[in-house]
Amino acid sequence: MPNPVPCAIVIFGASGDLAQLKLIPAVYELCREKLVSDKFVLVGYARSKEKKDGTPLTDDQYRKDCYDAIKKHARRQPIDESVWKRMEKNIYYVSGAYDSAEDHARLATKLKELDKSHETGGNRLFYISTPPEVFEGIITRLGERLKSKADTSSGFERIIIEKPFGRDLQTAKHLNAVLHQYFEEQQVFRIDHYLGKETVQNLLVMRFANSIFEPIWNYKYIDHVQITVSETLSADDRAGYYDKSGATRDMIQNHMFQLMALVAMEPPAALDSISIRDEKVKVYKSVRQMEARLTDTHAIRGQYGPGQYKDKTGMKPTPGYTKARGVAPGSRTETFSAIKLFIDNWRWSGMPFYLRTGKCLPEKLSEIVVRFRSPPLTLFQKKSDAVYPNDLVIRVQPEEGISWRLNAKVPGGQMAIKSVALDFLYKTTFKAEPPEAYERLLYDSLLGDQTLFIRGDEAEAAWQVIDPIEEAWAKSSTPPQQYAPNTWGPKAAMDLIELDGRRWLHSSADDEPIVACSL
Ligand code: NDP
Repeated sequence: MPNPVPCAIVIFGASGDLAQLKLIPAVYELCREKLVSDKFVLVGYARSKEKKDGTPLTDDQYRKDCYDAIKKHARRQPIDESVWKRMEKNIYYVSGAYDSAEDHARLATKLKELDKSHETGGNRLFYISTPPEVFEGIITRLGERLKSKADTSSGFERIIIEKPFGRDLQTAKHLNAVLHQYFEEQQVFRIDHYLGKETVQNLLVMRFANSIFEPIWNYKYIDHVQITVSETLSADDRAGYYDKSGATRDMIQNHMFQLMALVAMEPPAALDSISIRDEKVKVYKSVRQMEARLTDTHAIRGQYGPGQYKDKTGMKPTPGYTKARGVAPGSRTETFSAIKLFIDNWRWSGMPFYLRTGKCLPEKLSEIVVRFRSPPLTLFQKKSDAVYPNDLVIRVQPEEGISWRLNAKVPGGQMAIKSVALDFLYKTTFKAEPPEAYERLLYDSLLGDQTLFIRGDEAEAAWQVIDPIEEAWAKSSTPPQQYAPNTWGPKAAMDLIELDGRRWLHSSADDEPIVACSL
């Protein structure tokens, strides 16, 4: 693996959840794997001058906080203290406002000092891990300094931006315009951490490194594709934030569309960031725009009501979404969304893609089910629907892996058929847990590889699909449908697929029954 060049990694929002949970542990894991140059620094930047208990946030205190975060959240435990010792001396903290030119000038001075002391070569990777309200201020201040050549550094400047990238097409276009005022597209890394997950990358390998899939990977052999990203937790703890987005903006426009695009895209001309992202954009551009009159049947939104949902420690009560703290009175923000889409191109003509996501559902999982058509001749059964169709299940989490559901004969004198699974599990096949998505994405951004990041036009094209749905919902007199926590969403979401003669599938559902039949 190529060794990244020296670099200063600056995390804006350094005191936040994402930094503590994922980013700092990811930097540690990269140090452990020697995938970060020894000549690197990690600079945490945030407004806080002190911790909640009043302890001043100095370099030393921030190092302690990083150590605690790594001890708690690093993927491999116990942590390697010798790695930490190497990493510790490269960590610094700068406190300042996100949009203050003065504070950014102080940060720049600090980075110049660190260039000298740590030989970071003037290379900068700025990671914007703050709430979206402050993205623009940070980008503008960074860009102004870059444009004014105030800090003539000979190295690269890259900028990583967390989700959400806008809340509709207009805001995404605006954010792109702000970025492009100062930065070239090659400097911008829009993150969707799903792309850093092994199984998601494996989708490309599975489709394009195996010859068996391509001939059958189309509407002629596939009946439909369904994608489920379900969460057991409620939105109660961060309802104030959630109320501004909702399930469709929070999950479908980004993570789930990435999964859909990788399933649906044409083979790219090459395995590079331009070719792959070109193909994904074509997918979004081919998605049939949702007509407002269809949203009642093709785009179902729900809100969980009062009841009990699953938490790590057991069942927990919720007063229901609309009663959670921070939710606007009469809020119509959806905590569940199920959408039926069509990709109008030669490969997928007339074949539906069903997407569903939600909070307070019975299981936490992310998976894609590709359901193949039934055999043309029903040799093995009296009833035509007795033999179970083949499914290819791509599990993103938990238990990352892929499984094929095939029909097999049950041993014995009788001709009985059972649906069985051929399972590939990362953990058992490769005897290792796949790396965290953020490790891969940070590593790639240090190398300047944008393949697993969202291009500006890609973000906009994805919003172009979502906007008509959101607009129709905003005008609709039908409010989100209530569903009980710990169920799979409102009835209308079942109807969305069941009226097509299909049903929602997920790998942990009970095995299909043994089917006895006579020859
Ligand atoms: P936080 O809410 O924890 O905010 C990060 C930091 O930003 C805070 O520590 C705070 O630092 C500062 N901040 C918070 N609110 C404001 C505000 N209104 N104005 C200015 N500064 C503020 O965010 P997360 O760490 O949870 O998330 C960061 C980004 O990553 C978001 O864009 C989120 O959507 C995205 N994300 C987060 C995930 C997660 O698991 N948490 C997962 C995927 C994406 P200070 O006050 O010290 O400046």
